[in-house]
Amino acid sequence: MDCLFCEIVKGNIPSKKLYEDEQCVAFYDINPMAPVHFLVVPKAHIACADEITQENSPVVAHIFCVIAKLAKEQGLCDGYRIVNNCKENAGQTVRHLHFHVLGGGPLSLQMA
Ligand code: 5GP
Ligand code: ZN
Repeated sequence: MDCLFCEIVKGNIPSKKLYEDEQCVAFYDINPMAPVHFLVVPKAHIACADEITQENSPVVAHIFCVIAKLAKEQGLCDGYRIVNNCKENAGQTVRHLHFHVLGGGPLSLQMA
């Protein structure tokens, strides 16, 4: 299987990692859309939010705990946005579940 984020998780493709544990990895987005923009991904390959199930969903809860911790560490005390794009119509370009964390200043309220 040819998956960019699986390769980043394995360290085969370099990334600027800010956090890693047994379940997930966080790294800075290569094309930041905000002063702080990082991605948090499960180590196990899940293609998109549409493939979250009762069985694999514990990692999603874990990722949200990690996001809260990293947001504090990154100084995002005035707020931040968590974004997930699911499939083509939402503009998902990498088919490995990932949560964008954007912050570091006021964000536009545009939703689409
Ligand atoms: P999506 O559009 O699928 O929601 O988000 C994919 C994100 O991955 C984009 O924001 C894009 O900039 C980022 N990205 C794509 N390729 C790479 C890469 O090789 N390294 C890093 N760090 N980010 C990447
Ligand atoms: Zn993958």
